[in-house]
Amino acid sequence: MSEPALHWNHPLRADNYLLNSLLEETSAHSVSIVAHHGQHGVIARQTFAPGDVILHMEGERRVAPDRHTLQLDDNFHLASAESQPGGYPAWRYINHACEPNSAVRGRDFVAILPIHPGDPITFNYNTTEYHMASPFTCTCASPFCVGVVSGFRYLDPIEQERLRPLLAPHLLRRLRPA
Ligand SMILES: [Zn+2]
Repeated sequence: MSEPALHWNHPLRADNYLLNSLLEETSAHSVSIVAHHGQHGVIARQTFAPGDVILHMEGERRVAPDRHTLQLDDNFHLASAESQPGGYPAWRYINHACEPNSAVRGRDFVAILPIHPGDPITFNYNTTEYHMASPFTCTCASPFCVGVVSGFRYLDPIEQERLRPLLAPHLLRRLRPA
């Protein structure tokens, strides 16, 4: 156990420590976790071209979804372990969009559009989640916005088909072959 000997009496020092540890974990300053009006998100700190890996997910397996898990397979929901005092990995904070700029490939978030520094990283939760534990109303303003985001099983067949190129394998299996 290599707990760094830190003194927490200086807030800035603590913040810097947390920020640095998060940045290290998210592959060399490629993204930052940001908070805005109490909502967290993740923004790019560099340019990503389509196909570039933005970050890799680490975590623990759960058999049921909760508010913060990401589904990787049937009965396999990845939960983010708290990696540092008060610090979770960035992937936990990536927000939903109905027309996102990234997609989950295996355990990687991969850019599907050109992404520039400062852009929010997003993915479509309906491309990994079959049934969400905590549905919410999306306000992304895309013409393709589904409104309530509650998981792939609740989408109409047209929307399921639209998502085909972005679907995780466990959801692709549920679509008819193209
Ligand atoms: Zn939307």
